Amino acid sequence: MSNITVCARFRPLSSKEKRNDGDSVCIRCIDLEAFILKDDKEDFVFSFDRVFYEKSEQADVYEFLVVPIVRDAINAINGTIITYGQTGAGKTYSMEGPGILECDEQKKGLLPRVVDELFDSLSRLDEAVEYSVKLSMVEIYMEKVRDLFDLSKDNIQIKESKSLGIILPGATEITVLDPAEALQSLSRGIANRAVGETQMNMASSRSHCVYIFTIRQEFSRDKRVKSGKLILLDLAGSEKVEKTGAEGRVLEEAKTINKSLSALGNVINALTCGLQGKANHIPYRDSKLTRILQDTLGGNARAALLCCCSPSASNASESLSTLRLGARAKHIKASPRVNCSEEKCSKDYSVSSLPVDESCARIL
Ligand code: ADP
Ligand code: MG
Repeated sequence: MSNITVCARFRPLSSKEKRNDGDSVCIRCIDLEAFILKDDKEDFVFSFDRVFYEKSEQADVYEFLVVPIVRDAINAINGTIITYGQTGAGKTYSMEGPGILECDEQKKGLLPRVVDELFDSLSRLDEAVEYSVKLSMVEIYMEKVRDLFDLSKDNIQIKESKSLGIILPGATEITVLDPAEALQSLSRGIANRAVGETQMNMASSRSHCVYIFTIRQEFSRDKRVKSGKLILLDLAGSEKVEKTGAEGRVLEEAKTINKSLSALGNVINALTCGLQGKANHIPYRDSKLTRILQDTLGGNARAALLCCCSPSASNASESLSTLRLGARAKHIKASPRVNCSEEKCSKDYSVSSLPVDESCARIL
């Protein structure tokens, strides 16, 4: 069984797209799992675990894509939830909703829903289990990791610890006691992100935003400790800025983003098709982005990828490249592992190297 769930989500046409004469919808629904994307030359049929069309609700995406991963994180199986796509495609809307403190239940994003679910599930645990939820929030910009809870920490290192897996030494970790506190902290991180953007004169769409929840449970009877890590990742826009004739820092930014998104694509390729040549070598170290994901993507973890797209014909080529990455990701294979102090966790990433064949790109 594949342990990555890959979905596509189409937001409604924006008012600008609606105003644009001749700009029409390039997506034709087949069913809940397949659709046709038409560009000027060809029709492409894509199939995913689920397709969320413009009328889909935040709750639909959450229930299908995220709930199983949150439940697994509580059972000490690491997980990642990624939103991917060009700027304006609906990544942040899906992740945060119109605002992280949004009160309209219907519009609430994945992040506040995860927070509710985590505390709800943990509060139902046996009393003999003591639990804690820790939260870190970092941003990756120009291959530098910055602490969004403390902007003065602008070059956090990524290290690997035998017992804890991937860690960010020095990054602020806030222990949050309830959903309200978690949301306040997230809201502070998001506000800091905006401050940092102004300081550096950069748009948030040019950095990757990483939300890290660590859920720890200690059983009072035998002091056994179980811990799961859950990463939510709102990626930088995947659009090809280089083609627009950008110069200077904008071009440098674009190249860096392109490099890290390619690294993510390569990790996914290596996990799915063994394309890297060297058996079982997964190139996590090629970018900060993939390094942070090393113990939550592939191997023993569960992952969800939401490919966010505009339905507009004017964005068909960007949507096509977003969906192609999603189609490749469908082939990650591995078995989840429980992070438990009792277990000998010596087994390394158990990647099944599938033969490379056309099925790697399920584009008909
Ligand atoms: P991204 O983070 O991918 O750059 P955003 O999430 O900021 O894009 O979305 C761009 C715009 O589209 C925002 O104004 C957002 O409110 C709107 N939008 C995105 N997805 C949806 C959706 N599913 N329903 C309604 N509006 C949406
Ligand atoms: Mg965004």
